[in-house]
Amino acid sequence: MTDVTLVTGDGIGPELAEATRRCIDATGVDIKWEMVEAGVDVMERDGSPLPEATIASIRKNGIALKAPITTPVGTGFRSINVHLRQELDLYACLRPCKSYEGVRSKYENIDLVVVRENTEDCYAGIEFEKGKDETSELIGWLNSHREKQIRSDSGITIKPISVEGTTRIVRFAFDYARKMGRRKVTSVHKANIMKYTDGLWLDVSREVAKEYSDIEFEDRIVDNMCMQLIQKPELYDVIVLPNLYGDIISDLCAGLIGGLGMAPGANIGEKGAIFEATHGSAPKYKGLNKVNPTALILSGMLMLRHMGKIAEAEKLESAVAAVIAEGKDVTYDMKADRDDPTAVGTSEMADAIIAKIKQS
Ligand code: NAD
Repeated sequence: MTDVTLVTGDGIGPELAEATRRCIDATGVDIKWEMVEAGVDVMERDGSPLPEATIASIRKNGIALKAPITTPVGTGFRSINVHLRQELDLYACLRPCKSYEGVRSKYENIDLVVVRENTEDCYAGIEFEKGKDETSELIGWLNSHREKQIRSDSGITIKPISVEGTTRIVRFAFDYARKMGRRKVTSVHKANIMKYTDGLWLDVSREVAKEYSDIEFEDRIVDNMCMQLIQKPELYDVIVLPNLYGDIISDLCAGLIGGLGMAPGANIGEKGAIFEATHGSAPKYKGLNKVNPTALILSGMLMLRHMGKIAEAEKLESAVAAVIAEGKDVTYDMKADRDDPTAVGTSEMADAIIAKIKQS
């Protein structure tokens, strides 16, 4: 039996967590779930959106499936998702984007993997608010050291990119490519403008690539990458990016495969891994048994693969693919007409997936 933490989240989180847990259990995998909470509901009750017990459970088990969590606005709490990634040093965000037959999308046969650095860049949380004393002090220092002056009414976000942080994420991308039999890694940057951060990223990417002569390497400037992904996505395979570009390109790639309801993800570090959908907690759909469970179920499939439960992962993925290809027992967002009365709920789509698993 492997102990796995299940963070039930808030908004649409609990219903997706339940649907996903049922599908994973149906594969026959020997998982003992440890259910823990996080999110706005807990905050209202306990005063903190991220209970210590939740972090402790993930630390202990080293593996978690996490349903979406709302980022409370204007409460002084930073994103729980960002906090968890930093707390557990989950430096690699893995987002495979694959087309499934039957999904409505302008594109077919997409099979890309986005590897996003998760701890550095503008998301490191080093921010200076406009008008604060420390901000004025920083601006004063910068202005006295550089000819180019910063306006006194500026806010500032710091973008750290390190050799160590870049080396480990680019190695992660190459190791993943090798393990999964992929042919190419593309490193994305804006090194022509940000020479000391993205330039460093590019130099380190090139150095790391030399250790992997069996895998093709190339680099792209991020704006060009956006256009190329829209025009010629088939040219790309594994794409590795700093945090901010990774966030944006992940959603672009989710768009190529039919939207957020289809996009799974994982946050992986040396000490643990959290598997979660790319989408958020969609509060307006809370408790309606309406939204698409596919992204979280496919995140569960990635988790099974990560745990070495390959047969169970394949069973789960094939069942999801079969239900989507049939197009009958799917949620409203997967129907040609969003008001189609034959659309089923979250829980019924999970039932259909479980039925396919049982048949396999
Ligand atoms: P969202 O992804 O929650 O929802 C945006 C829209 O996408 C929804 O209104 C819905 O129309 C659609 N959608 C999302 N998931 C869907 C699904 N499974 N099936 C069908 N349609 C789906 O984005 P948001 O509204 O910007 O964010 C809501 C909250 O979630 C915010 O507090 C945000 O910070 C948080 N968030 C959390 C995570 C996470 O937990 N990892 C990720 C992103 C956003």
